Amino acid sequence: MSDYQAPMRDMQFLLHEVFDAENLWSTMPAVAELIDKDTADAILSEGAKLTSAVIAPLNRNSDEQGATWTNGDVTTPDGFAQAYQLYCEGGWGALSGDPEHGGMGMPKMLQSFVEEMTQSASISFALYPMLTAGASLALSAHASNEMKQTYLENMYSGKWAGTMCLTEPHAGSDLGIMTAKAQALDDGSFALSGTKIFITGGEQDLTENIIHLVLAKIPGAPEGPRGISMFVVPKFLLNDDGSLGARNTVTCGSIEHKMGIKGSATCVMNFDGAKGFLVGEQNKGLNYMFTMMNYERLGMGIQGVGAAETSYQQAAEYASERIQGRSATGAQSPDKKADSIIVHPDVRKMLLTMRSLNEGGRCFSTYVAKQLDIVKFSDDNQAKQNAEQLVALLTPVAKAFMTDMAFESCGLGQMVFGGHGYVREWGQEQLVRDVRIAQIYEGTNGIQALDLLGRKVVANKGQFFQLYFDEITAFIDKNAENEALNNFVQPLAGALAKLKAVTELILTEQSRDKNMVGASATDYLAAFGLVSYSYMWALMAEKATAQATEDFYQAKLYVGDFFIARILPRIDGHIAAIEAGSKSLMTMPEGLFNYNH
Ligand SMILES: Cc1cc2nc3c(=O)[nH]c(=O)nc-3n(C[C@H](O)[C@H](O)[C@H](O)COP(=O)(O)OP(=O)(O)OC[C@H]3O[C@@H](n4cnc5c(N)ncnc54)[C@H](O)[C@@H]3O)c2cc1C
Repeated sequence: MSDYQAPMRDMQFLLHEVFDAENLWSTMPAVAELIDKDTADAILSEGAKLTSAVIAPLNRNSDEQGATWTNGDVTTPDGFAQAYQLYCEGGWGALSGDPEHGGMGMPKMLQSFVEEMTQSASISFALYPMLTAGASLALSAHASNEMKQTYLENMYSGKWAGTMCLTEPHAGSDLGIMTAKAQALDDGSFALSGTKIFITGGEQDLTENIIHLVLAKIPGAPEGPRGISMFVVPKFLLNDDGSLGARNTVTCGSIEHKMGIKGSATCVMNFDGAKGFLVGEQNKGLNYMFTMMNYERLGMGIQGVGAAETSYQQAAEYASERIQGRSATGAQSPDKKADSIIVHPDVRKMLLTMRSLNEGGRCFSTYVAKQLDIVKFSDDNQAKQNAEQLVALLTPVAKAFMTDMAFESCGLGQMVFGGHGYVREWGQEQLVRDVRIAQIYEGTNGIQALDLLGRKVVANKGQFFQLYFDEITAFIDKNAENEALNNFVQPLAGALAKLKAVTELILTEQSRDKNMVGASATDYLAAFGLVSYSYMWALMAEKATAQATEDFYQAKLYVGDFFIARILPRIDGHIAAIEAGSKSLMTMPEGLFNYNH
């Protein structure tokens, strides 16, 4: 079985053709001087080498060996420290960091591909730099200049890592009920106490310091989410000259034994009066943390596509080599005892489902990354405001729909291997175990769906939705006479109209039925995701139809046709479920859920 190869051609197609990145970048002064097509391609090609040659080969052992805990110290799997060193020396941790503090200032559209490659190679490995990048982003957006100067450069260089400490044993989805306390000290710092659980990379042996971003409550703060502040709590305190000083009183009590991503240390972190420094203003911590969480949420979607890409590459190769049964239309390889399983419609359906979801997902994450770049780098205030609203609307879709589809893809990849997918040898079962977490952490996909429908659609009476709807409608109108795109544009228009109608239904019904939003949310997110992927497929087809003589573009159109014919119709099931309302969910008495009653 061949190793992972980054899908360079597809990434270049999205960057240069579908989203015309160079043109966009040329309108952004902060980016225009940094990057052009050749630089972007060179970065992608270096990323492809590092991830396939250095990181991917560590993935299997990282699952078998796992991260280990001894007396508060964590050892990462063999090879992680050396690979991490190479990752840092290559400047990958600084790629999209703030240039004023040692970052390279590259656009997210480019970085998202490097993230995908790293996730494809090894989710366990990728999580360490990913959390650091997210923590750096939150500090860069919300910390004082002095704090940025103290921490960012060493975090971009990878010398220090970052974490995100939110979850407590009794406070997961509902962070408002957290109990971690931050007591003000005379010198302006705070003493933090409490226990945080499930902290990714809370302890490890890759970096010389770890900068924990911790959410806690200052005594007297308002109840609930509005009383949460954010603190920087370094593992090692810093001396006045910036060198490492005393060990802070934050320790790793244990690590979790879990279903997958075994090479990623998931830590219980105990804060025993640990010295911490307030980031920004008191009680705004949850807002600040959303900067990091939104970054991580798109990253989770990309993580899903990364794993599903690896699964697809292996499944496609296996399917053409494995011979079982004969084609329904007569032997395709009469010289052999059987045909390759790729002749069977059901095997093709599995492979095409995977590929259409993966390529649709990659296009969607690039689209969201483009909006993030407009927010960050554009000079045009209207464009910035629109992009901000699209990011708010689409982030929960990217997190939840992309990871749901990725889990489906990895399950199908495993199925292509038959029984060989269930045993250790081929790596498929590891991908299924590893990718499952992406649906759960960073806010479960159920919570993402509530965020989409409750906060991003209903709360603003569909205003953000209308913006996205108008953009897709403009695309449909522009291509109404384009016969080559008929297969894409007509079904997209139909699906968009259905989504619009069901959005209006929910907007009306929710004032009558208080459970309507909760009862509809996951189906709504799925319908929204299907429309979004259809839009992405139409954007890709628009470019591919113009050059359909090359294999690459032909394959795009075949896979796109499959998506529209066989995946998009799922939208009708989701809409029917929403239309059924909340009654069938809410009428059974609570006691009857437990069989012992
Ligand atoms: C491997 C791993 C790594 C992690 N890394 C980190 C990390 O680095 N930092 C960090 O802070 N946390 C981390 N987490 C924690 C993770 O983000 C939480 O586990 C997740 O957000 C869910 O919280 P919970 O486990 O408390 O589940 P709960 O909140 O108890 O949820 C249980 C179920 O109830 C549902 N539910 C809860 N509330 C509602 C509601 N209001 N409406 C509808 N449904 C609801 C949920 O969707 C879920 O299905 C990690 C977790 C794991 C397993």
